[in-house]
Amino acid sequence: MSATTDDRTTRGTAGPMGGVWIVVADEAWPAALEVARASGGTVTAAVVGPQPLADAVAAAGVPVVWVEPARDTPAEAYAVNLAAQVAAASPDLLVSTGGPAARTLLGAAAAAAGASLVPGVLAVTDGPRWTVRRAVLGGEAIETLTAPAPLALILAADEAADRPAATGVAPGTVAKADTAAAEMVVAGTQPAPPASGIVDARTVVSFGRGVHAKADVALVERLAQALGAEVGCSMPVADDLGWLDRSRYVGRSGQHISPRLYLAVGISGAPQHLEGVRGAKVLAAINNDPKARIFRRADYGAVGDLYEVVPALIAALQQ
Ligand SMILES: Cc1cc2nc3c(=O)[nH]c(=O)nc-3n(C[C@H](O)[C@H](O)[C@H](O)COP(=O)(O)OP(=O)(O)OC[C@H]3O[C@@H](n4cnc5c(N)ncnc54)[C@H](O)[C@@H]3O)c2cc1C
Repeated sequence: MSATTDDRTTRGTAGPMGGVWIVVADEAWPAALEVARASGGTVTAAVVGPQPLADAVAAAGVPVVWVEPARDTPAEAYAVNLAAQVAAASPDLLVSTGGPAARTLLGAAAAAAGASLVPGVLAVTDGPRWTVRRAVLGGEAIETLTAPAPLALILAADEAADRPAATGVAPGTVAKADTAAAEMVVAGTQPAPPASGIVDARTVVSFGRGVHAKADVALVERLAQALGAEVGCSMPVADDLGWLDRSRYVGRSGQHISPRLYLAVGISGAPQHLEGVRGAKVLAAINNDPKARIFRRADYGAVGDLYEVVPALIAALQQ
């Protein structure tokens, strides 16, 4: 790399006052930490990833705000929520390595914090304003620029390579970010509204699209009454059909419940639904399809038409 230097100055407010954040989504984070520490500010880490990653960053002496992604969910899905949390701290400097997830998260945080984004960064130093050295022209030249806070820096690829984590420092704390705040917003779904009575219920009778008409919800309600249960449902019943309040649907993006008995009526048993009832002690299901996925998880199952099975069950319970 040759050393053509171009000094450029951007006018703005006063420089660093602390509040340096690193955004971590992969193992290359030690490079971001080194650059962040060299800036002279107090460093906090926003980590999106598994717990060992958060613990490793904390072990380097950095307080960590940790977002644990749901299974099979990419870190990038948490960009909006992470950005809001970081921006709320009004950081002066944000630093990430150039990995795809880390830089996506950094970009979102930069936008939320109103920070100017500088890619290809080699180093940053403190002063009346930030002074940033960065690689340009494919690494053939180095540019030095000064700019006011807030800045968001993405490290050059070389900077992120194989830096060992610091040792012999007091570990930082790991604070798990509020789950509600970290909820992924998926197109077509919204985070669940406040919990309904199903969350603490000992027994929940839940129904899905196997119930064919809104008028038939009364049948499920009669069964719930006979069992002293609360009524829940699958997501489409609340979201698409609007037959029950959204606070009553169970699953990944709905309520997570742990009743003693969960009775699923006309519910196929999609993984997203079952995520909400992992804590159920006993799961029973009524479904007319013997191959329905719900039977893989059910402790008890009745294969049959719910319009026959449910009335028979109500009659039996009333006797
Ligand atoms: C990102 C994402 C998040 C999601 N989050 C959730 C979530 O939190 N909760 C959730 O529930 N879903 C969620 N879903 C949707 C999920 O994937 C399923 O589409 C949904 O759970 C299916 O609902 P269902 O079982 O009521 O309907 P269906 O899949 O249509 O199943 C209806 C079932 O009823 C049975 N049936 C039909 N007629 C009868 C009858 N007369 N008697 C007995 N049985 C009958 C059928 O055999 C079938 O098994 C999510 C999806 C995505 C992509």
